[in-house]
Amino acid sequence: MKRVFNFSAGPSMLPLPVLEKAASELVSYGDTGMSVMEMSHRTAAYEAIIGDAQKLLREIMKIPDNYKILFLQGGASTQFAAVPLNLMNGSGKADYIVSGQFSGKAYDEAKKYGDVVIAATSKPDNFTYVPKTDRSSFRPDADYVHICYNNTIFGSKFPYIPDTGDIPLVADMSSCILSEPVDVSKFGMIYAGAQKNVAPAGVTIVIIREDLMGKARPETPTMLDYKIMADNDSMYNTPPCYSIYMAKLVFEWIIELGGLDVMKQMNEKKANLLYDYLDSQSYYTAPVQKESRSVMNVTFVTGDDALDKKFASEAKKVGLDTLAGHRSVGGMRASIYNAMPYEGVEALVAFMKDFAEKYPSVGKNPK
Ligand SMILES: *Cc1c(COP(=O)(O)O)cnc(C)c1O
Repeated sequence: MKRVFNFSAGPSMLPLPVLEKAASELVSYGDTGMSVMEMSHRTAAYEAIIGDAQKLLREIMKIPDNYKILFLQGGASTQFAAVPLNLMNGSGKADYIVSGQFSGKAYDEAKKYGDVVIAATSKPDNFTYVPKTDRSSFRPDADYVHICYNNTIFGSKFPYIPDTGDIPLVADMSSCILSEPVDVSKFGMIYAGAQKNVAPAGVTIVIIREDLMGKARPETPTMLDYKIMADNDSMYNTPPCYSIYMAKLVFEWIIELGGLDVMKQMNEKKANLLYDYLDSQSYYTAPVQKESRSVMNVTFVTGDDALDKKFASEAKKVGLDTLAGHRSVGGMRASIYNAMPYEGVEALVAFMKDFAEKYPSVGKNPK
């Protein structure tokens, strides 16, 4: 069976060499005579896997020594609660920038635990941009400021890192982690579900400054307490063993390609191809303002719902899979994470041109 170009927002494409390597080790890992799926997490072989995963991620992202790396479960959505439980421990206040659906969900969850406000939002404009902020946007006594760095559903990304002064900045990077270098020291904490750009679903990466741990609220479930997880090297209980192993293979793949500078170049080349085409014609519209455009999730519409649906179904027939926008917003979305080859985007742009020619009259955006 031929592999398709899979534009799914998540779970999403994994690099073919990674899948092949995993396949080659599937039934027996190294000289263990067993699959990683069957292996106790308390063995030397598995401890080497999780240890390497941590070491490689630290190397790739240049994570400073005073940050811990945790491999947790529950997806990014569980972090929406874990963040306030662990960090809303001083004034009991937290400020959220709501720039899309996931940051809205994070805000709604945090409200259960304290005095939480929206510092800035682009909601009235349908999340077509990322709001600008400066220090005066935030309450000086807030325990933390939360952002979603890349808005997976709307296809926008922060073009800047908010200046929060001394207030720890917490970022959901589920859909952009490892897509480009980031200065980790600008953040108090970064978290990301793995299934967009790192590994199969099941593991959630948390990168947290050490001084922010150890002050969790008393009602914090043990499983959500970062300090307990850090003290146990993410193995307080059984970790998502296989997903962590897959993450390790992806980290090795990134290093082999040259690291995050190379990833950024490759990703920008792909995104530019698509955005340049979108900007060159009027059949499709890209709703996100230019300076807020995501390099990972590219959204566009024809302006006609029926035509948008036809686009996704016809694209699927030619091996361009899962191009329908999120069920809540419609339109189209091409998620072009690290694992999407340039040829996939080339094929998509060629298809878009053909489609526009094939359905000319209806395609004239009626809006
Ligand atoms: C996918 C996604 C989530 C939700 O992740 P789960 O692992 O399904 O909980 C949260 N935030 C962002 C930015 C995402 O892309």
